[in-house]
Amino acid sequence: MIIGAPQESNFALNKVYQWLFVEQACQLCHIPSKESICTHCYETLDFNIYACPHCAHPSEMGELCKICVSQAFYFDDALAPFLYEGEVKNLVKQIKYSGDFYALPTLCEPLIQRITVKPDAIVYVPSHESRHHQRGFNQSQILAQHISKHLHTPIFDWINRVKSTPTLAQHSKKQRAKLLKGAFQCHSQVPEHVAIVDDILTTGATVNELSKVLRKKGAKRISIWTLARAVAH
Ligand SMILES: [Zn+2]
Ligand SMILES: [Zn+2]
Repeated sequence: MIIGAPQESNFALNKVYQWLFVEQACQLCHIPSKESICTHCYETLDFNIYACPHCAHPSEMGELCKICVSQAFYFDDALAPFLYEGEVKNLVKQIKYSGDFYALPTLCEPLIQRITVKPDAIVYVPSHESRHHQRGFNQSQILAQHISKHLHTPIFDWINRVKSTPTLAQHSKKQRAKLLKGAFQCHSQVPEHVAIVDDILTTGATVNELSKVLRKKGAKRISIWTLARAVAH
């Protein structure tokens, strides 16, 4: 049976219609779906299947990638279930710039599934006061809260971002390190194993700088959990 749109005057039925068909639609193809991304669209997303265990960059068979062979990070392991490409890029941008969190739980699912060791605490990448004020939210914090609830793992938020940094991707490795130096301050001893949560892992420079600070304050193992990994070309 095909149900047509109710008359505008029928308020209650209209509400039911909205709940059933309008509000619950796939964010990508817009067909009615109980999931924020329908099964068909979900299967077409770019998954990061074989990835470097250290930095989550795609590698042929899941071995250590070329970046990690020549460069040491302050963190120990990283997870990113998606590649920062195509529709994933659009969905992450919608979260980051429009504050549209509808797809967030669905995008988080494969990340949560890949977590094998629960850390002592979850850390999010803090945003500088000016940026937080401008956007009104911090997508890393929202992501961390979602994961924290699922895992029953506390959030460690004794970190401040004291320096605002521009988009780092177009800068050289040396410039990125210079721009980030002193960006974070941590005001407490850090538990032994922490996981840093962020939306995307691009060059790893930001989470690396934060890892450096956390290590100085006592962290022994640092994991990075992100939704998507940008591929170095
Ligand atoms: Zn769809
Ligand atoms: Zn790597």
